[in-house]
Amino acid sequence: MERFRAAQPYSMVGGALLALAMSLHSPWGNIACWWGGLFAWQCLYFVFTSRLLRIAGAGQGVSLPHFRLFVLATILAAAWWGSAVWWLVPDNDPLYLIVVLLWLAGVASAYAAYLTGVKLLPVLVLGLMLLIVQTKLWGTGIPVLRLAGMSVLLFTAVLVTMTWPLHRYLRESYAVREENNRLLLDMTEQQHKLDEYNQQLEEQSRQLDEALARVEALVAHDPLTGVLSRRAVMTRADQLVAQAVAGQPFCLAMLDLDHFKSINDGFGHLAGDEVLRQTSRLVGGELRGNDSLGRYGGEEFMLLLEGMTQDAALLRLEHIRNLVQQHDWSALIGMRVVTVSIGLVAWKNGLDVPQLIKRADTLLYAAKRAGRNQVMTEAAAEAAARGHA
Ligand code: GH3
Ligand code: MG
Ligand code: MG
Repeated sequence: MERFRAAQPYSMVGGALLALAMSLHSPWGNIACWWGGLFAWQCLYFVFTSRLLRIAGAGQGVSLPHFRLFVLATILAAAWWGSAVWWLVPDNDPLYLIVVLLWLAGVASAYAAYLTGVKLLPVLVLGLMLLIVQTKLWGTGIPVLRLAGMSVLLFTAVLVTMTWPLHRYLRESYAVREENNRLLLDMTEQQHKLDEYNQQLEEQSRQLDEALARVEALVAHDPLTGVLSRRAVMTRADQLVAQAVAGQPFCLAMLDLDHFKSINDGFGHLAGDEVLRQTSRLVGGELRGNDSLGRYGGEEFMLLLEGMTQDAALLRLEHIRNLVQQHDWSALIGMRVVTVSIGLVAWKNGLDVPQLIKRADTLLYAAKRAGRNQVMTEAAAEAAARGHA
């Protein structure tokens, strides 16, 4: 139908040329009537087929009444072409009749070519056109024109016979094309769905990553104080031992609040919690570079001082100890003062994390025994032991 609509302008031009050619012979009135009729019909026909194509393009399919109307319009257009022999050669001049006949043979070929694939339509169209032409030619009573009519009949019969087998191939190719279009549509739809699923999956995976990051952050931090969790600070200690083997020294300190139980007992666990929070903040505020502070358990903290000698670490820890002691605790626990005891060890070759913790613990308890609120190193512990002895 689309090809047929596209052929309409050619039909108009063809009609105009025939009218022009016949202007040498035919009366102007006849030419104007025939070409005017053809022009008006083709215009209507063009508008009608355009509408049908728009309907078909919207995916609704062309209804049977519409298709019948299309067939009728096509047949009438062909009939009008056939009537050219009546309009343009009213005087039955054999030469001009043959001229018109030749033009019509051309038009018949075009119809046969364009209507291939619409099965019976070419037969109807060409049949009607020929009938009109034959009536005219036969009516002249001139033998040569009757013969010419017979020849055109033969020409058209050959044309139809030769183009007939093309119907099947054309219909098959249409069917394949439609199937391809359908498959393409299906594929596009599937692709859209796949894209949507992919987007959903990406979104879910992003949410999962975020949730995982939140869980990791939760696991890595102590919920009460916000410093590193025991697991995280231990992992950090393992890393520092590995770095120390490669030549980067570090110190490990265990820090324990003194008589913390009595704070809980005297001021309640909430006050005790707040003391833990504020102590963490005070100590955390003194961290430098890659230092790490973690809650080892209860009121005990582990402090990792990266790249520090024991002497430098001792100075820092004395400063921290003072900071805690001198902090204004009055709003929380009245006149009570919070103090911390600290056991400090410097990494030595061959020591792993459990061994370092064990040594730091021993020193921490030595600090407790020695009266609390102090930093105990191995050297200080030995000196104290010598003093006792
Ligand atoms: P020392 O000077 O010998 O360390 O005495 P201490 O009282 O600090 O030590 P002890 O081990 O006897 O008591 C520790 C207390 O810390 C006991 C426990 O109830 C308290 N504690 C542990 N975790 C928390 C916590 O998260 N919040 C509070 N408020 N108290 C805690
Ligand atoms: Mg303790
Ligand atoms: Mg304690």
